[in-house]
Amino acid sequence: MYYSSLKYIPTSSFKVGKIHPLALANSANQRDINRIPIRIKIATGSYILQTNRAAYNQNNVDPTCKLCDQAEESLSHFLLCCRALDQIRTPILKNIICKCSELLALQHSNIQLDILQLIINPFHYAGSVESENDISCRIEPLCRQLIYNLHNKRYEILSKMDLISSRRKMNFKVS
Ligand SMILES: [Zn+2]
Repeated sequence: MYYSSLKYIPTSSFKVGKIHPLALANSANQRDINRIPIRIKIATGSYILQTNRAAYNQNNVDPTCKLCDQAEESLSHFLLCCRALDQIRTPILKNIICKCSELLALQHSNIQLDILQLIINPFHYAGSVESENDISCRIEPLCRQLIYNLHNKRYEILSKMDLISSRRKMNFKVS
C-alpha cells in the first residue's frame, strides 16, 4: 500500500497464493501470452516513459514526449492522448468502450468508468466473480492488445529517430 506506482491495483485484490488476473493467460493463445509482460509493467508503474526518466535521472532529462513533442509523456499521455499513436489507439479503444458498455448494461450498472483506470487495471471494476470472468475474457485481452500495440509503435518510432540522429552524427564526424 506504500508503493504509489501500484495505485491502479487495490491492495485488496492481492491474494496470497493466487495469481492476479492481470498476469493470467486467458487462453493458450501465444499472442495474448506475449502481451502480458508489457501489460504488467504498465499496471505496476514500471514502464519507463519520459516523465519517469526525468524524475529518476540526475542528468537533466526533458519529460516532453519525443513522439509528438506536444506534452509531457505521462502514462495518460501515452495511453490516451499522444497524437502520434492515434491510429493504433482509436479502433481498439472504441472496441473496449463498446464491450464495457455492453457488460455494464447487462449488469444493469450505471457506474462511471475512468478510462485510464479501465485500461491499466479493468479488474478494478469487477464486483463479482462472474464479472471478473467477463472482464478476463472480454475486456482484458483488448487492454493487452492496446498496450502492446502502443508499445510497439512507440518503440518503432523511437528506433527510427535514434537511427536518424546516429546517422547525422556519423555524417558530422565524416565531414
Ligand atoms: Zn506524445
